[in-house]
Amino acid sequence: TDDLATTDPELAAAIKGELGRQQHEIELIASENIVSRAVMEAQGSVMTNKYAEGYPGRRYYGGCHFVDIAEKLAIERACKLFDCEFANVQPNSGSQANQAVMLALAKPGDTILGMSLDAGGHLTHGAAPNLSGKWFNAIQYGVRKEDGLLDYDQVEQLAQEHKPTIIIAGGSAYSRQFDFARFREIADSVGALLMVDMAHFAGLVAGGQHPSPFPYADVATTTTHKTLRGPRGGMILTNNGDIAKKLNSAVFPGLQGGPLMHVIAGKAVAFGEALRPEFKIYAKNVVENAIALAETLKGHGYDIVSGGTENHIVLVDLRPKNLTGKVSEKALERAGITCNKNGVPFDPQKPFVTSGVRLGSPACTTRGFGVAEFQEVGHLISEVLDVLSQNQTDEDSLVEKAVHEKVVALTDRFPIYPDLG
Ligand code: PLP
Repeated sequence: TDDLATTDPELAAAIKGELGRQQHEIELIASENIVSRAVMEAQGSVMTNKYAEGYPGRRYYGGCHFVDIAEKLAIERACKLFDCEFANVQPNSGSQANQAVMLALAKPGDTILGMSLDAGGHLTHGAAPNLSGKWFNAIQYGVRKEDGLLDYDQVEQLAQEHKPTIIIAGGSAYSRQFDFARFREIADSVGALLMVDMAHFAGLVAGGQHPSPFPYADVATTTTHKTLRGPRGGMILTNNGDIAKKLNSAVFPGLQGGPLMHVIAGKAVAFGEALRPEFKIYAKNVVENAIALAETLKGHGYDIVSGGTENHIVLVDLRPKNLTGKVSEKALERAGITCNKNGVPFDPQKPFVTSGVRLGSPACTTRGFGVAEFQEVGHLISEVLDVLSQNQTDEDSLVEKAVHEKVVALTDRFPIYPDLG
């Protein structure tokens, strides 16, 4: 037999460990989700063996009949899901999707205007250490100090001053909806292209819980593995035929070689799932659950950046409890609750320490948690962090152990991948 457990017990054990971790931890990382068995089956299929440089019907390799079917299904379903005309489903990641847009629509040295990392933007929107910040003249907008909301007046003023080629709307730690109409107005006033990076909230758009970037955006990018609940990867959408051509050339041969056909197959499956009526309910639950979590934490004296949430993200400001994101993330992990430390706007702490944690509802909503469970999660978080705040020590506390037991009991009530062991 050549199964993994026999041929590579070391690696098999790591996978088994990861399965157990996912099964018994409360996953609150806002950018993660739990894919279906069908998505995993497609991704673990023989399509991984196939080279298919090019696009369906126009490949540089023979034998592409079946992978063409997979890619065409992914494209058709993506277009239906987001009500647009063109989709490129080949980007290997969200970052590569964004790079492809920049390669297609801007030249090195051009000005781009995106949300700053500190305010909740993504690295690929012009942050200094990223290619987007090195090869472009990257100007960054932020949020307002008084309420943590996106500062549209600043976007407008910076656009007028710097005349960007591309304006990017979207972020990784912003818990409010984006006003695409306002972004469009600003882009039009300076002749800029509008790119919406909906990586975080794409699943909410698909499920009718967040306004669509279209018709406002010239181009929209996304990851496929966050709220959209597909395999790890990226995608680019547009309604403009000229832009679509440029984007296709930018992804291949501009940036990538052979597309990951097994991942594209997984994307097709996930988009098919997202087209079903149940996904609308899922998206609605994601938002309701995030609100329940935010409200519970507020009840325990935590500050939530922008005062709450309209999507799947809850950005907790820990300063009222005199805690950093770094120690809080670790304490929660010891108690079986996984999240990530995250800067809050105007954070006085360094990026590796931070004053906040970012929480999200997509993964636990997939496993069936509802409002009652998210309220319980909020109580558990506060139990762990309140004792950390009182003791100010990094050591295992009895409370952490007690919470860990409750976490295991709660996750046992909502099993995932039961047939995988
Ligand atoms: N865009 C946004 C808004 C993101 O939040 C992320 C990932 O966190 C990305 C792009 C990049 O995606 P990837 O990690 O697949 O490169």
